[in-house]
Amino acid sequence: MTASDATGPGGGIAVLLAEDEESFVDALVVGLGREGFVVTVARDGIEALERFDATPFDLVLLDVMLPKMSGLDVCRTIRTRSNVPIIMVTARSTEIDTVVGLEVGADDYVSKPYRMRELVSRMRAVLRRVPRDPGHTGEVPRVTPGSAPVLAAVPDTVVTVGDVRLDPERHECTVRGREVPLPLKEFELLHQLLLNAGRVMTRDSLIDRVWGSDYVGDTKTLDVHIKRLRGRIEEDPSRPQLITTIRGLGYRFETPRGR
Ligand code: CA
Repeated sequence: MTASDATGPGGGIAVLLAEDEESFVDALVVGLGREGFVVTVARDGIEALERFDATPFDLVLLDVMLPKMSGLDVCRTIRTRSNVPIIMVTARSTEIDTVVGLEVGADDYVSKPYRMRELVSRMRAVLRRVPRDPGHTGEVPRVTPGSAPVLAAVPDTVVTVGDVRLDPERHECTVRGREVPLPLKEFELLHQLLLNAGRVMTRDSLIDRVWGSDYVGDTKTLDVHIKRLRGRIEEDPSRPQLITTIRGLGYRFETPRGR
């Protein structure tokens, strides 16, 4: 079965796996296959781009350290032509901050060694929140003209992290049991942060998801919205405990455990 067959009705999700370590390749092909993913393997960066251009994929799993062309460069190149969900795989968790800081345009990061279950749940999460490229068919709702592109791409289910609860369908936000009215962009911003609670969201990825990837304008807009959002949901907005600033990178919504 080829990757292009995989996107048909009843087929699996087509995944491009760029990985040069044989032990990981074998384990992933079997493990992901069991979860309904159809895996195409590329063993270096150049092959990854060739495969990517040859057939449509629903998701790319990209090792950072690849022969011939690094995963970071592969990611940057793919981003010039596609918004396909990309998960970068780093060799050590300490590398993640460096990789995130480079803002290559990946949707998520995992570090080796990882549990198959964790990887699969990350994969499903990015598949839910990233709209598929036109031409791909799938269950993920397509963006309809005039609707907010980002909000349409994420699930409308209630998200709760600690004392903050967000109901996208009703456009309701509750903080410490009290309802807090939020303007649309602040609501979308909080929604994105909550969906990624516990993880750093880069400034670029937040701007992309809330204002759209074609957004041109002052990046201060993001900081202004964060500031307003903190004013509404933080107990002490001058010392934020929920939305923290990760210097040089972006923002993170803290999970209760992390506080
Ligand atoms: Ca490698």
